[in-house]
Amino acid sequence: MSEPRLRIAVQKSGRLADRSLELISGAGLRVMKGANELLYRIENQPIDLLRVRDDDIPTFVADGVAELGIVGYNVLAEHFPDADLEAMIVQRLGFGSCTLKVAVPNEADYTGPQWLEGKRIATSYPNVLGAWLKTHGITAEIVEMRGAVEVAPRMKIAHAICDLVSTGATLEANGMKATDLVLKSEAVLIKAPHAPAPELAHTYDMLLRRFDGVTASTGAKYVMMNAPRTHLDEIINLIPGADAPTIMQLAGREDTVAVHAVCQENVFWDTLDKLKTAGASAILVLPIEKMMK
Ligand code: ATP
Ligand code: MG
Repeated sequence: MSEPRLRIAVQKSGRLADRSLELISGAGLRVMKGANELLYRIENQPIDLLRVRDDDIPTFVADGVAELGIVGYNVLAEHFPDADLEAMIVQRLGFGSCTLKVAVPNEADYTGPQWLEGKRIATSYPNVLGAWLKTHGITAEIVEMRGAVEVAPRMKIAHAICDLVSTGATLEANGMKATDLVLKSEAVLIKAPHAPAPELAHTYDMLLRRFDGVTASTGAKYVMMNAPRTHLDEIINLIPGADAPTIMQLAGREDTVAVHAVCQENVFWDTLDKLKTAGASAILVLPIEKMMK
């Protein structure tokens, strides 16, 4: 019998496909793109990638066909409207961000969710929209559409739509404006309800640790600078997302220390300007390649 292999369900092609593969190779997995389009083998670990449509990922993972999956929170929420999603989610991945919003024709006098009362709303997210309408105490007719939702008002199929928006360009092109936010989404790593086979437990744990490390190090920076003791507190407070920086005495400089910190977020020029103004000097910001917490 062949050795058991872990399966990760990923989007085959589309908005999350490239970033999912980047995360996987960032975790040190070497992907072999073989003849089998559905399954890519990982060369250096007992892992396969199950390449499917994003809509199939929640079910495959919930059924245990794949132990892990990478999917948009929006797709997950739509699939399992009543499930405890937090129990399924291993971590948020920090890419594929988008928002599900209500949009109405430009000329509509939208004043708030109440405007939707008794109207027809086209969406590919009937469950998520239904729950949102319910929390606002609104009764409206939901028209489910698989795609091209943005044309619904022009075709007189609906008065409003509820769709994913990132730049708003699609809405603009269709004479519509975004209004209320229904759901914020990003890609999430989800896990099957049952633990992996015992012989795969080690690989599974390693993988989760590495994914966490890749996500944590994305955008994280290592910051070093010299700081006068008199302004140390102020300077430490200016370093974004840094907990417990290392403070070191500089040889022959009683009044100055070296401050080293890992910042969980990117460090922008204006932060450097503020640090400089507060008295910091010789400021260096370095990228972090790998991190294990
Ligand atoms: P599939 O063929 O796998 O079913 P799809 O067409 O349903 O793909 P994509 O358009 O590739 O889906 O989007 C995949 C996911 O990317 C979305 O579910 C969402 O989580 C995320 N996403 C990020 N930005 C956007 C955006 N501007 N519009 C739509 N989805 C976005
Ligand atoms: Mg899809």
